[in-house]
Amino acid sequence: MSKLHIVANRLPFSLVKEEKGYSLIESVGGLATGMKSVYTEYDGKWIGWSGVNSDTLSDEDAKSIDRQLLEKSCVTVPLSEKEILEYYEGFSNKTIWPLFHYFTQYVDYSPENWETYKRVNQRFADKVLEVAEDGDTVWVHDYQLLLVPEMIKSVKPNVTVGFFLHIPFPSYEVFRILPWRMELLKGMLGADLLGFHIYDYERHFLSSVRRLYGYEISFNEIHSEERIIKADSFPMGIDYNKFKKTSAAVMQKTIQERSDLHKELEKYFMTSPDRRLILSIDRLDYTKGIPQRLRAFRKFMQKYPEFHGKVTLIMLAVPSRGQVEEYMMLKREVDELVGNINGTYGSINYTPVWYFYRSMPFENLVELYNMSDVALVTPLRDGMNLVAKEYVASRNNQTGVIILSEMAGVSKEMGEAITINPINEDEIADAMHKALTMPLEEQKERMKYLQERIERYSVFKWAGEFVHALENVKRLQKEFLVKKISNGVFKDINRKYTKAQKRAIFLDYDGTLTAFHKNPQEATPNEELYSILNKLIADERNTVTIISGRDRETLEKWFAEVPINLICEHGVWLRKYGEDWQTLTNVNNNWMPMIRPVLERFVDNTPGSFIEEKNYSLVWHYRKAEPEQSVIRANELKDELLDLVGNLNLEIMEGSKVIEVKSGGINKGIAANKFINNENFDYLMAMGDDWTDEYMFKELPNSAITVKVGIQRTSANYKLESVDAVRKFLSELGN
Ligand code: UDP
Repeated sequence: MSKLHIVANRLPFSLVKEEKGYSLIESVGGLATGMKSVYTEYDGKWIGWSGVNSDTLSDEDAKSIDRQLLEKSCVTVPLSEKEILEYYEGFSNKTIWPLFHYFTQYVDYSPENWETYKRVNQRFADKVLEVAEDGDTVWVHDYQLLLVPEMIKSVKPNVTVGFFLHIPFPSYEVFRILPWRMELLKGMLGADLLGFHIYDYERHFLSSVRRLYGYEISFNEIHSEERIIKADSFPMGIDYNKFKKTSAAVMQKTIQERSDLHKELEKYFMTSPDRRLILSIDRLDYTKGIPQRLRAFRKFMQKYPEFHGKVTLIMLAVPSRGQVEEYMMLKREVDELVGNINGTYGSINYTPVWYFYRSMPFENLVELYNMSDVALVTPLRDGMNLVAKEYVASRNNQTGVIILSEMAGVSKEMGEAITINPINEDEIADAMHKALTMPLEEQKERMKYLQERIERYSVFKWAGEFVHALENVKRLQKEFLVKKISNGVFKDINRKYTKAQKRAIFLDYDGTLTAFHKNPQEATPNEELYSILNKLIADERNTVTIISGRDRETLEKWFAEVPINLICEHGVWLRKYGEDWQTLTNVNNNWMPMIRPVLERFVDNTPGSFIEEKNYSLVWHYRKAEPEQSVIRANELKDELLDLVGNLNLEIMEGSKVIEVKSGGINKGIAANKFINNENFDYLMAMGDDWTDEYMFKELPNSAITVKVGIQRTSANYKLESVDAVRKFLSELGN
């Protein structure tokens, strides 16, 4: 059975230093929980860092750690102090983290850190390559390892690679700032499936791919040179039942069994029946909007004095990246704000903010979730935010209200929360008031829906859906591989070719014989192409025809020296070699004055697009236009044209970044069939890359060898991946 391996910066175990050597403790974080079921079920390995500076380990310790971890199916990637500093704390946390969370002012552009990031990513990939065999699947996690997918794929293309980004993917306008944007995207595009928490991140990613690499994207499929890559959104869940059960269990404990925190909280509520708790839990990170939240609480105290002495904000800030300047400044700011609020509104027996700068054991967290009336989750940016989900799962009596930032990924799943803009302190203050005065019935009504949803889409379901989607991509890619001309298939085609006595070969030009060019007039044939064509033509058994959407003048000029047949404008004109041009159809251009103004309007409102006028058609080209806008415009144009063409016997053809309007009854299929009519060819072959070539593939006799260039769906019998592959194929025919 093929295996599934996990790659993440950290392993799902931490090391504890003992008197002699190290021992392991299991991590309880969301990712570790979700993935454990996956990699053990698929008999895979987890590849990651142990969390310990390898400089400090003796050889003996390192070996013992490796051995202990291997027993748990984990493979370690050791990191030295310098690497931790430059790859992890540096490039990951000081460059990608702030940039992807839109904190461009904090981004550190250190080339040294980038070099180390690349090197360490390569080290992770090398470990994967030692472990993964052809046919296996590898699931790579998060922003520390953006380059790993490509590093795996380029060496082992038959390993299926999934990638999940746990933080936001920013808008192209922000992503483009990064000097290493091309390399990072290329790294990610080594994956076969890319997962994001929400659709917005997915769409930002696709937009960057389109703009930076120019790949064709249809819905969420990216068509790169070699394969189809899928992007999709999978909102990560939590281990719902663990929170639900623990929450029920802690509340059933006898007074003696309860934790100190639990007892303190009960004491707080007992002093007065209308006492309320608002809960705030995060890592102390600038993305979490903690100072804004505190200021909003101060505003609440100002605006709603009736709550003085009755409401406490319990703020748990988990220390994080404490050596970094921005985090130290944040800590100072939070300390001061808490002091200020408590100094202003506190009294001997009332502290408005209970502030904990530490982490808490799981059970205490659940007690806080269970006993707080309101959860205040107001990050400025957050990929998902699991705290909001954990709060929901811990509410056994189905009361409680969440105030939720619209900038957190989780807000897309929590329509029943009170949604706020995390910068708008007034709005948050009012939301606190609304939450604290919300009738219990309404709270329960909202919580019921939230719980149903969060329970259903647990972290296990999330992991399962991702793996399932990865299998589907594999299937999709296989479809391409099935039709791809392998060495064996080539031999077969070549055998038939060699045996045949009279062959007709139809070759599309752009995208088949020559790669696309931003300016179509510059896509001229080169020496290599001339020599391939001349060699084909030199065989007297071959009748070679270029069949293109281009106009007569261009093809005539480019192939003046080549004894070849030309079919132009998708089949309007034929010039047999040595003869005059003839039309293959009776058409007229009366319709052009009606259609041209429509196209001109689209040229005006789509900068970079232009009209090409052919003898029997008008073409709107948008390859040079802004990619996203032009796709929308192209759809609008099609709609408008569809309304017009019905009465005029016209056809709308959609090619690669072109929309062509032409008289009906003409296409490459009709033209190719007319060409071969009454001649007894015993070998027919047609090659082409786009939609207009599908007419040939469909309409030529079944015996024809039809070859689609590219990975999109097709009715051709075979596929080749690129212009280079076509040229190689043609030059080897007959050998
Ligand atoms: N958490 C924890 N100990 C604490 C406080 C929080 O383990 O003392 C956990 C919390 O249960 C949650 C995670 O930290 O699972 C925070 O995840 P979230 O997605 O909210 O934010 P992140 O820190 O990943 O940005």
